Amino acid sequence: MNLHEYQGKELLSSYGIPVQRGKIASTVEEAVAGYEQLKAETGTEFCVVKAQIHAGGRGKGGGVKLAKNMDDLKQHAGNILGMMLKTPQTPGGLNGEGKLVRKVFIAEDSYAPDFDANKEYYISILMDRGAKRNVIIYSTEGGMNIEEVAEQTPHLVHKEYIDPHVGLRDFQKRNIAFNLGLTGTAYKNFLTFIGNLYKAFIGSDASLFEINPCLKTGDDRIIAVDAKVTLDENALFRHPDLEAMRDTDEEDPTEVEAKSYGLNYVNLDGNVGCMVNGAGLAMATMDIIKLSGGSPANFLDVGGTADATRVEHAFRLILRDTNVKAILINIFGGIVRCDRVAQGVVDAYKNIGNIPVPIIVRLQGTNADLAKVLIDNSGLHVHSAIELQEAADLVRKFIS
Ligand code: GDP
Ligand code: MN
Repeated sequence: MNLHEYQGKELLSSYGIPVQRGKIASTVEEAVAGYEQLKAETGTEFCVVKAQIHAGGRGKGGGVKLAKNMDDLKQHAGNILGMMLKTPQTPGGLNGEGKLVRKVFIAEDSYAPDFDANKEYYISILMDRGAKRNVIIYSTEGGMNIEEVAEQTPHLVHKEYIDPHVGLRDFQKRNIAFNLGLTGTAYKNFLTFIGNLYKAFIGSDASLFEINPCLKTGDDRIIAVDAKVTLDENALFRHPDLEAMRDTDEEDPTEVEAKSYGLNYVNLDGNVGCMVNGAGLAMATMDIIKLSGGSPANFLDVGGTADATRVEHAFRLILRDTNVKAILINIFGGIVRCDRVAQGVVDAYKNIGNIPVPIIVRLQGTNADLAKVLIDNSGLHVHSAIELQEAADLVRKFIS
């Protein structure tokens, strides 16, 4: 689950990490009110107006603007709110349709008073699956062109791997601060900053933190000017406060709906819909589809209790995708009995009515034979298979 920048900053702030003060607004009136308050708190007229969408690169698309007074503020908030913001990271990139901006963050201008005295760094924390460790990736070349820096001058991007048993060590913090060229007060402030950042990463069960830019101001403060935060959904139950930050407006509507039924659904662009119980089997099924010449239209894990209601919801979700030419149902009956699932498939089919694409059902495990009889005798346009190979052959037959 992704957080908006302003939410990420709330999280960072709760771990003592310096962030810009700011106000959130969804209308120009709210932006004006927020700006008045902020001005009173900061004593300056300068602020930045920042589009809040779940995508980076906003600055490049015109979603981050500096306002020097109330007139600027009204103009920028008016332009940004409601715009379809195109960034290199929104669907289709800079030439795509963009994402609707519903909220802006009115934030204190951290770069004032002496813009040129600032220095922008890049810092991210994520899990390196190959190394089986968290890694802090950092660079002196922070700001809007970090992707190019990584491509053209990779030696300017450094990594610090963290031993999961001991966490981030003091010498590692010093190493990072040193490589960033920090000295004096900034160096000391940075040690605290990076220590707290790592604590926040672990404490929130995050899978990604990206602070770009991380700013060193003219007076040696270290501030998180941007915050991209991705949280591990499997750990959200431990963080009801963070879970409450979910913004379903930013997510794929079909995936949001699937979640409400307890289904794990990810939309893909292939032609074979699949319905499977268990994530591992779902991945293996996607491989089988690929091997039989098709390509999966989705990932869908119906979970352990593949009952009729779930199966029906799953059918309806898959059928919404007009690219689907066939549906492969692959269920392993371990806890769930295959005949129950088969009955669920038959019932769901009858409830939905005319399903325009062939359905291949492979049920294996407890009561698989009974299940096959049920499917074969249902009189429906459903093909049963017991072995995976048979199912794959049927997929091949129907999509070619
Ligand atoms: P992103 O483009 O989505 O990554 O959004 P950022 O929050 O990183 O902002 C983009 C750029 O706007 C930054 O790289 C900064 O150069 C600039 N920026 C962000 N905040 C401020 C600010 O408070 N003052 C000024 N002057 N520039 C800012
Ligand atoms: Mn940024």
